Amino acid sequence: MKIENTLEKEVELAVALKVGNEEYNTVTIREVTGLDEEAVSQPIYKKNPIGLYHELVYRCITEVAGLDKPITKNYIKSLTIGTLDQLAYEIRKISVGDDYEYSEVCPECNTRNEGVINLADFIQVEKGNRTIDISLKRGILVNDKRIKDITLIYPTGQYQERAFKESASDLLNKKNDDFSIPKFGEITSSLVYSCISNKEELGITTDIVKSMSTIDRKDIAKKLQKTPGLKQIIEIPCNKCSNDKIKHTVNLIDFLL
Ligand SMILES: [Zn+2]
Repeated sequence: MKIENTLEKEVELAVALKVGNEEYNTVTIREVTGLDEEAVSQPIYKKNPIGLYHELVYRCITEVAGLDKPITKNYIKSLTIGTLDQLAYEIRKISVGDDYEYSEVCPECNTRNEGVINLADFIQVEKGNRTIDISLKRGILVNDKRIKDITLIYPTGQYQERAFKESASDLLNKKNDDFSIPKFGEITSSLVYSCISNKEELGITTDIVKSMSTIDRKDIAKKLQKTPGLKQIIEIPCNKCSNDKIKHTVNLIDFLL
């Protein structure tokens, strides 16, 4: 939604927004205001960080270039996770800048590293498509026919919501609200199912996905992790030992918490 006298910026989406058969690549975002802070501090978001995340991105988009109807929350949820992260990053940047406080323990020497970095030095955005083709090793057996070539849709906001519901207690226990895609093992059949693009047409059901081989599920999980957009995991050098790759998941909405 547009608010007068706020800073705005145009952003080229990492993966286009698809509405019907049309694709839209450019959106305008604005900085966060007190109104947004109040809206996302409501009790309903206390236990629903994904909902808060989507609400914030939704509120701070003022325009989708070429789209002649109002932006809905569902459009936002249909964006890929990497694109949502890209938007959250741009919103953060226009609102509070690029300075970012981190705190992470080095796995090599056990020292807690704390400091401030400039996110722009660490974060990259990779553009790409909404879907990816994959050739399965074992394939999916549907009506005695083995299907090996399928198309996957990169995880979207809807996937994030579903993954959150399926592992809500787990996610809530993680520090720094981790919004990343669940790792393999956490990827349930229903999540794999939701990422198969042409499942109806191919006659693939959730039960069939459950019977898929581990190797195929693993390959799917690997492909899905390579989602285009902003990579939320960065590597920070340790200030005690020679380890220069301490993994840290950037909390893009830290400034609201
Ligand atoms: Zn270290």
